[in-house]
Amino acid sequence: MQNTPSIAIIGGGPGGLTLARILHLHGIKATVFERDAHALTRPQGGSLDMHSETGQRALQLSGLHDAFQALARYGDQGNRAYAPDGTLLFDDPNPDGDQPEIDRSQLRQILLNALPRDCVRWDQKVAALRALPDGRHALAGAGIEGVAFDLVVGADGASSIVRPLLSSARPAYEGVTMFELGIDDIDQRYPALSALSGHGKMFVKGSNTLLAAQRNSNAHVRLYAAVRMPLDAVRSYSTISAETKTWLANIFAGYAAPFRELIEVGTLLAVRPMLALPVGHRWSNQPGLTLIGDAAHLMSPFGGEGANGAMADAADLALLLARGGDWRAAVAAYEAMMFPRAEAAAFGAGQGLQGAVAEDDPDHVARHMQETVSLRPDR
Ligand SMILES: Cc1cc2nc3c(=O)[nH]c(=O)nc-3n(C[C@H](O)[C@H](O)[C@H](O)COP(=O)(O)OP(=O)(O)OC[C@H]3O[C@@H](n4cnc5c(N)ncnc54)[C@H](O)[C@@H]3O)c2cc1C
Repeated sequence: MQNTPSIAIIGGGPGGLTLARILHLHGIKATVFERDAHALTRPQGGSLDMHSETGQRALQLSGLHDAFQALARYGDQGNRAYAPDGTLLFDDPNPDGDQPEIDRSQLRQILLNALPRDCVRWDQKVAALRALPDGRHALAGAGIEGVAFDLVVGADGASSIVRPLLSSARPAYEGVTMFELGIDDIDQRYPALSALSGHGKMFVKGSNTLLAAQRNSNAHVRLYAAVRMPLDAVRSYSTISAETKTWLANIFAGYAAPFRELIEVGTLLAVRPMLALPVGHRWSNQPGLTLIGDAAHLMSPFGGEGANGAMADAADLALLLARGGDWRAAVAAYEAMMFPRAEAAAFGAGQGLQGAVAEDDPDHVARHMQETVSLRPDR
């Protein structure tokens, strides 16, 4: 039996690039097909905190610990919660924490810098996969007709085109939509708002609304204004427009003035209905195909596990493939390892979302932060 399969990775997000990097370190060639035209073609989204047992471990296994440490922001691990009237409910600057932040674009660049130049094929959107009689799968899409691989890894996120070949599950709307806004250079332009949101994450929980602010590098702050709303209503406010911004400001009109000002000065960047795959999503192993990251276990960001989980999946799959032996068994072993980890994370993320954007329990977020602090080993 052939021990080293030819490998296609569909998607160059945190999961796909980590997989390619660790395989590369072990002398296994993989080709990443990425629909983006280049690394910075679209804003990559807000900052990510890297957890020690998942994201950071994957970076270590990628040989990129030092590159990560050079950019990791340990000073941006604070957690703060306010009531909508401005009362401070919880504040922990947490400089000694071990979940430092890194901008998504920086993380992508670290991984790309460590890959051979021909590893990532940019501007190559895979439109379809076709099973061949010899067990391989051929990829189809503009400019990629006819290439076939022994193993195709779907690292292609929420709308994976690989997933339907393995599972009938579809992401479902979780009842909450996030309006993402950005504020550049907040320290200079809005020092009072900078002091309010602090160095890390800030949350303000209202009734069926939540305003979160997250500090990125270069004094950029990302705002996530979450609103519980039916999907039909989302369709009316899904455009990046002045109308959407005005509607959003009205939704948060009951919040204290500085929180309203954050929304007012923020530039609307994206409207994201929160979608999730069923908790415990899994599939029967099929030779030649598997999934990692959001493609396998899309969940809300409320556990902070999405990118971390994608990188943990990548590390586990890469290490199992690198052991040699029957690569098909390695893929099955990876899936058996990943399913329970993803189930626990998805359960937590679902609970987090439903508790944080709810009608009642105004202290929910502050209490959760307090519980997290009391679980730290140094307490
Ligand atoms: C608002 C928000 C905040 C978040 N905050 C956090 C956080 O703090 N911590 C955390 O761990 N996670 C967070 N997440 C989740 C995190 O972003 C995802 O879980 C993570 O990006 C998943 O990585 P991935 O590699 O599986 O998929 P993705 O990052 O989605 O990457 C998929 C890649 O595949 C490419 N692609 C898709 N389809 C195709 C195709 N057909 N052909 C070729 N290429 C294709 C895409 O262009 C993309 O580059 C957040 C998510 C959101 C929405």
